[in-house]
Amino acid sequence: MLKLTIPADIADEIIVQAKQGAPLEICGILAGKSDHIEKLYKMTNTDKSNEHYTMEPQEQFAAIKNMRSANTKMLAIYHSHPETPARPSEEDIRLALTPDVVYIIISVAEPTPAIKGFNIEDNKVTEVHLTIER
Ligand SMILES: [Zn+2]
Repeated sequence: MLKLTIPADIADEIIVQAKQGAPLEICGILAGKSDHIEKLYKMTNTDKSNEHYTMEPQEQFAAIKNMRSANTKMLAIYHSHPETPARPSEEDIRLALTPDVVYIIISVAEPTPAIKGFNIEDNKVTEVHLTIER
């Protein structure tokens, strides 16, 4: 996937979650159809860490079940960088094992939050064009 459209209210909600979660990383899943996000699933970061995350398995399972009944797909996995820029860390690249999803990183390190998307496959990182739909 080379581009992804995110409704502004969902993008805003992720930024609020990232700011409130700081100094710890927050995470979640975005679902939709084709390249258009329709729904946000906030996940608990069971690592409770400021430099990595693991999505809570039960919440993840419930989200996937909900996506199936809504006939949507998991399009993106997002997490925040409380203190570093919005680009994948070495660990993010190493642990990017879910195929066909965009990895979204929200940095709240600067006063103006940054939100960026990436394809990560076989250790290769390509930026995905994100459109925030207002
Ligand atoms: Zn990261």
